[in-house]
Amino acid sequence: MLRQFSRRSLLLGAGTLRAQTALQGKLTGKVILPGDTDYESARRIFSFNPRTARRPQMILRCSAADDAVRAVRFAREKQLDVAVRSGGHDLLGASICDGLVVDLSPMKGIRMNREDGSIRVEAGVRAAELNAATQAAGLAVPLGCHPAVGVAGLTLGGGLGWLLGKHGATCDNLLGTDIVMADGKMLHASVAENADLFWALRGGGGNFGIVTALEYRLHPVSQVFGGVIAYRTPIDKFLHFYGAFMKDAPAELAIELNMLLNDPPTIIAMVCWSGAAAEAERVLQPLRSFGPPEKDLLDTAAYLHLMDRFPQLGRLLGPPPPPGRKGPPDIYWLGGSLPTDRCGHRTVYGHCTGRAARKFHRHGALHARRGLPRGSGCYRAPAGRRAICLLH
Ligand SMILES: Cc1cc2nc3c(=O)[nH]c(=O)nc-3n(C[C@H](O)[C@H](O)[C@H](O)COP(=O)(O)OP(=O)(O)OC[C@H]3O[C@@H](n4cnc5c(N)ncnc54)[C@H](O)[C@@H]3O)c2cc1C
Repeated sequence: MLRQFSRRSLLLGAGTLRAQTALQGKLTGKVILPGDTDYESARRIFSFNPRTARRPQMILRCSAADDAVRAVRFAREKQLDVAVRSGGHDLLGASICDGLVVDLSPMKGIRMNREDGSIRVEAGVRAAELNAATQAAGLAVPLGCHPAVGVAGLTLGGGLGWLLGKHGATCDNLLGTDIVMADGKMLHASVAENADLFWALRGGGGNFGIVTALEYRLHPVSQVFGGVIAYRTPIDKFLHFYGAFMKDAPAELAIELNMLLNDPPTIIAMVCWSGAAAEAERVLQPLRSFGPPEKDLLDTAAYLHLMDRFPQLGRLLGPPPPPGRKGPPDIYWLGGSLPTDRCGHRTVYGHCTGRAARKFHRHGALHARRGLPRGSGCYRAPAGRRAICLLH
């Protein structure tokens, strides 16, 4: 693991310029230091968690796999903390640190092989970019639901999205990766080569090394039926209906729920039906007649454009927090199943940022559970508070 050799952070101090010059001379990418004009934008990641506002000593923007190899060797030599970033969408800030950030976002190569139904993608590609490339050929890799998420981080963490039931998680469709290991060696991992490493890369999270390229299996996907449908109804009532509805739903139906705990609560379902078009009406009829819905924006769409529905979701969620407010303290990102805990409270599994977690604690609502990832727990949403839950 990368962090095992890079625990100590070295203050480059006066040697910074020399170190930068020496490294820059060996790279095709770019070294960015504090004070450079693009430093502030380069250190930013997509996160409302204030703990992710770090100031790296150096950001290395890779433009080729060799840059990642040199970055690892440099970090070893200087004993720098290393964070690896692709799409920058880790909400807990795992892709930013105070040492060296290896940023693969400029690596955008995509090569499709129509003959064997596979595609090779460099680590800086985002979901919308991969979808645009594959959909031009009527094909798709099962990805997540958000256009800007990086395919590398998504795949390494599993990857749950619109085609989950039909074609599996993103990591189920991974055929191989190129990866720079902590000793600076480049390996290929697949079922046939370095199989144990490949097993770990499929959902084990990042940081087993720096993944520079990923190969996926493609599936034919063109039109789907879906979009946004919203309700204003008590959450318990909705979940009672929803649990029964999803229990018997076909695998081709995927729904992501967002809940605003205002009074009455707003429940927004983002829907994708990827089964036969003729079946869409029958399958979705219970969902479309429950309530009735406050807004029903479901229709036929090219799979590529399903992600464009996010602005509709944003409008239904309401305006973002006012500028200058430190993080959105009443927004929680949660995911998973909906058991009833020992106290009989409705609960959701998931994870949230430190600030939000503290708030849950204050409400006496956090029940830590073993076996869940760091930052996760079993939560009861505080009554009467505004919150957003994401349930895949
Ligand atoms: C708005 C939003 C929507 C989301 N929607 C979905 C969704 O629909 N489905 C879903 O499954 N998830 C979703 N997620 C979660 C998302 O998949 C993860 O946060 C994912 O890790 C982000 O990947 P990234 O490359 O953008 O992030 P980064 O912040 O760049 O990286 C995330 C993690 O992966 C590691 N990593 C990144 N690239 C590499 C690499 N090349 N080699 C080794 N390690 C690497 C990083 O070090 C970090 O630990 C969403 C997140 C956000 C913020």
